[in-house]
Amino acid sequence: MSFRNSLSELFGNPPKRPDKKSFSIEVQEMHATKKFDKVRIQAIYEEIAEHKKLPQKWRKRRWATLIIVNLLFVVSLYFDISMLEGSLTASRFVGFHMADLNSALQVMLAYKHIVLNLVIGTVTIFIMWWLLGGRTFCSWVCPYHLVAELAEMVHEKLEAKGWVKDHPFDRRARTWFWIIFVILALVTGYTVYETISPTGIISRALIYGPGLALIWVALLLLFEIFYSRRAWCRYGCPIGLTYGLVGSISPLKVQYHLVDCLHEGECRKVCLVPHVLDTVIKGKAAGLDVDLGADCTRCGRCVEVCPTKSLTFKFKGFGDKL
Ligand code: SF4
Ligand code: SF4
Repeated sequence: MSFRNSLSELFGNPPKRPDKKSFSIEVQEMHATKKFDKVRIQAIYEEIAEHKKLPQKWRKRRWATLIIVNLLFVVSLYFDISMLEGSLTASRFVGFHMADLNSALQVMLAYKHIVLNLVIGTVTIFIMWWLLGGRTFCSWVCPYHLVAELAEMVHEKLEAKGWVKDHPFDRRARTWFWIIFVILALVTGYTVYETISPTGIISRALIYGPGLALIWVALLLLFEIFYSRRAWCRYGCPIGLTYGLVGSISPLKVQYHLVDCLHEGECRKVCLVPHVLDTVIKGKAAGLDVDLGADCTRCGRCVEVCPTKSLTFKFKGFGDKL
């Protein structure tokens, strides 16, 4: 996917239909000759129904990582071992200053002066998340992601019974939220977003004990269960957008391979940001191998559920596949 289209999607615009004239002869032939293999697709659905559960390999790895990272903060404070001090907003890892990029931006705008430790922390975190894929922060570290994923499972169960229905919003709302919170920090001199950020609220609650702000997190989760699936991460959270911008230039991507794809769309059903998988729809891939866009959280759900292994992790410069 082109850098421009990747950013456009990240800001909330619908995926652009690639210009077919720009497709190579090989890709044009592939699209022209590929047919829906109904028999194989039916066999895949039967196999899924038999196992009752989709593969969970990457999900288990991700949940373990997320829990360990967040517990490290708690353990460091509890045993006073100065390993990982602070919270996800601002921390010190074995003496290295680290700062969440969105929080650092809010602090600098609010206080209108550059603090050296904050700059060091921001640069460290920027390099780390650039290497790791940007929104990897969301699915591998953010504690709200974990509870929202559990809420999503409840939503799916209720939806299957016909008791709830998903209500999507305009994805551009997230970009507007991002701009509004930047302006609020500048005008009020206060890091307004931090007071409502479920990421910061849960992280602080885990480390320093629960507070009233958790009621806000509970309301968000109820909204996601009963009204709009994964609403906060899809349409609201400015942190996701900030890390998405970092991910747009990251060497770590999920890559789509057209050749074996059946276009049955199992990946799109499980994805938090299904617009990045628009390329898997028949006739839309602009190449034989296509990097997914910046909004991808590198969660690995599509990688593990794809029955033909047409989606893989890829680290540029380290071969094609991880
Ligand atoms: S979008 Fe925000 S709340 Fe959701 S996982 Fe990312 S940082 Fe956490
Ligand atoms: S495209 Fe795949 S790895 Fe990226 S967010 Fe969606 S399911 Fe996760």
